[in-house]
Amino acid sequence: MCTHDHHHDGEVLDEAEKELFHRRNVLQILAAGGAITLAPGALAGCATNPETGSKQFLLIGDGQLSQMAAQSWAAAKQQIPTSTDPRYTSRLANIGARIARGANKGEETWDYAVFEKDTKNAFVLPGNRVGFYKGMMDFAGNDDQIAAIMGHEVGHVTGKHAAERVSQQLAGQVVVQGGSAVAGSQLVKKCRTQGRARIAGRTEIPRSEAYAIQREYEQCVRGAQRNTQMLSAALGMGFTLGVVLPFSRKHEKQSDRLGAKYMYKAGYDPYQAVALWEKMAAENTSRTPEWMSTHPSPETRARELHTYIKYQEQLGSQGWESIKMPDEKS
Ligand SMILES: [Zn+2]
Repeated sequence: MCTHDHHHDGEVLDEAEKELFHRRNVLQILAAGGAITLAPGALAGCATNPETGSKQFLLIGDGQLSQMAAQSWAAAKQQIPTSTDPRYTSRLANIGARIARGANKGEETWDYAVFEKDTKNAFVLPGNRVGFYKGMMDFAGNDDQIAAIMGHEVGHVTGKHAAERVSQQLAGQVVVQGGSAVAGSQLVKKCRTQGRARIAGRTEIPRSEAYAIQREYEQCVRGAQRNTQMLSAALGMGFTLGVVLPFSRKHEKQSDRLGAKYMYKAGYDPYQAVALWEKMAAENTSRTPEWMSTHPSPETRARELHTYIKYQEQLGSQGWESIKMPDEKS
């Protein structure tokens, strides 16, 4: 049910909003806005991702996403020093290359960076750009555990999660803006045009009206900025804004499984992914409760991954083909 997938769970929409969500409207509006051109293949809107077996609502292509993420990647490398120590950089690049081959993406160009920060985290930006914080590499005791994180990040790439997230945000903007949504800077431009139109050709404007126009303009710009932030966050470009919108639980789960699969295909021990999450769980005692968080808890991830890997092994030669478990619908 792809047409209903492109907005967030739990959002209640009235009939008018549902109508706005109608794909054709979204496409027309985006096409009119022109700031974001649609991927040729995306006109279908809905396609099954061969890696995940799930249907996706996509309005934007990999090439354009990659272009948009280039700036964020450069900004990240400018804001946080990157390691030049081969014990980190070469190690990560070697593991990355093996995992990329495991994901049948060995022929593509990949960019890796190790950021000099204690944070136990890693991230991926569109265009095959994978960033690890030093703290993550130190915490992962062995190559297999680094490969587990790498596999997970590559899973976000093959799962086309960024494209799906951006498409959801774009579709969301249509509702936010009541049918006249365009992206970012275009929106600010529109505010200015609207404001100017109200004073055009007039020689005298009462003070109260001038205030009102000014207020409206400022409100309009704030709205536009919010939308820009949403779009940036959607792209994982939170570096300049200080906020990174996390992937959804569904995407996290898909990436965990794809990651284990790529580990297996690359000759790593997928159970080391379980070990890593267990270690993470032991480390993290005071944490946001799982129901409040967009990410599953480390305990849950470890348990679910264990079940998943065991099941693939049981399938024998049929294993590691699909990331769906038998009780899950396609
Ligand atoms: Zn993730």
